[in-house]
Amino acid sequence: MTIDTTTTTAGVQEIGHWIDGAERVSVGGRTAPVYNPATGEVSAHVALADEAEVAAAIASAERGYRVWKGYSIARRQSVLFAFRELLNARKGELAAIITAEHGKVLSDAMGEILRGQEVVELATGFPHLIKGAFSENASTGIDVYSLKQPLGVVGIISPFNFPAMVPMWFFPVAIAAGNAVVLKPSEKDPSAALWLARLWQEAGLPDGVFTVLQGDKVAVDGLLHSPVVQSISFVGSTPIAQYIYETASKNGKRVQALGGAKNHMLVLPDADLDLVADQAVNAGFGAAGERCMAISVVLAVEPVADELIAKITDRIAKLRIGNGAGADGVEPDMGPLISDVHRDKVSSYVDIAEADGATIVVDGRGLTVEGHENGFFFGPTLIDDVPLTSRAYTEEIFGPVLSVVRVETFQEGVDLINSGRFGNGTAIFTNDGGAARRFQNEVEVGMIGINLPIPVPVAYHSFGGWKASLFGDAKAYGVHGFDFFTREKAITSRWLDPAAHGGIDLGFPQNH
Ligand code: NAD
Repeated sequence: MTIDTTTTTAGVQEIGHWIDGAERVSVGGRTAPVYNPATGEVSAHVALADEAEVAAAIASAERGYRVWKGYSIARRQSVLFAFRELLNARKGELAAIITAEHGKVLSDAMGEILRGQEVVELATGFPHLIKGAFSENASTGIDVYSLKQPLGVVGIISPFNFPAMVPMWFFPVAIAAGNAVVLKPSEKDPSAALWLARLWQEAGLPDGVFTVLQGDKVAVDGLLHSPVVQSISFVGSTPIAQYIYETASKNGKRVQALGGAKNHMLVLPDADLDLVADQAVNAGFGAAGERCMAISVVLAVEPVADELIAKITDRIAKLRIGNGAGADGVEPDMGPLISDVHRDKVSSYVDIAEADGATIVVDGRGLTVEGHENGFFFGPTLIDDVPLTSRAYTEEIFGPVLSVVRVETFQEGVDLINSGRFGNGTAIFTNDGGAARRFQNEVEVGMIGINLPIPVPVAYHSFGGWKASLFGDAKAYGVHGFDFFTREKAITSRWLDPAAHGGIDLGFPQNH
């Protein structure tokens, strides 16, 4: 299966929507360019839905839902298993699509697919996770039981940085639970969603149960205001997450909106500094820092900062930056950023840090890669002594920029983490179990790593941050996911014993 784009009359490759089991080009004619970030070339144009296309997508999902909800659990489960098998067999195709539009190196693209596949595998066991409860003879002759039913049509709006994994945090669970999904992927890397739609069709999912609506704010607002759409699962930057949460809530929808991050790693003086340096480089520069769980600040409890900076600097010097697809069978360590606009924004944060008095230890500004002079590359950057008031410290940069902040004590480090507005992920590096235990107790962050960074929970736990990193009550996947995508119905039932009859009683029901 290739990135099967549709050629329009103008001769431009257009990436369309997936509605009613087929790819549809834009009717309204609005499109946006999609780039290969490694070369800077436009590879295609993606459809941007207008209101009529949004309505068509939602109507198709509504029809799909009516069919899907009639499927037995066993039949639904067989579709999920088929999807899992197809994904596992063909994931290499998807990884190539991700690298071509996102820019991350192929092995990292494969990594995100594997983490998404974990959720598909969790979802295959959905009968156990959505079965209800039964209390026999709760009152004399009366049974009480609860059912978990699907919500109906549910909306998923995803960011550019994980075009396969983030949608897979939600749609396997939503579909397993009996819902129909309308996925609005990022317009920057829209092809992965279409590939997944085709895979669902091959797996036997009825048309309309997995719909892809390409677009921008028009598509998003269409989902937020549609009375048919019952819930919204959003992942992206904090300002948009907050907008989504407020608008969807006001419109009576269930909503989970995951936002941005600024993740700190606390290094105690007893930590293994070689391990710390390796992990800081992995977590700071992997996927060019475009991960919501990337580490962007190393909090070094003195006296280790100078030694740590030297070790990180050595490692940065060995990093290979290039086309994520690799050349001659060799893969680089880091690919480009998603766009030239984003690269310039990342660069401006390094300018801000410098102007605010920080020391730029390794400077990635202005990097060009031979043979890819128009690619959106930005080199790994290490900053020391960034003032805590600098926007380079307080704001999310979302690029390969790692700052070292020196603190004197464990408590100073924890207080600094807790004073930030985000609370997505954090990590502590130490050989002192007691310190790690106190850290996990006191730190106001949703996901914590102990001697490892990027602590993305496995599929049967749930993913989500605190504070400005998650608006809403429900995290992604795990038990939270199944709760989010179902609603409970409690039934109190009396079947009269042929020998007994309660008679008329106007009082409030009491148990006996
Ligand atoms: P973004 O907020 O720009 O876009 C996310 C989605 O919202 C896209 O589908 C986009 O089309 C849509 N959108 C953008 N502007 C909109 C508007 N004004 N109105 C309505 N919809 C709009 O985010 P991005 O740049 O694609 O992704 C990067 C961000 O996502 C970072 O902040 C990162 O931390 C965050 N992220 C968070 C998590 C998490 O789990 N918390 C995971 C991945 C990414």
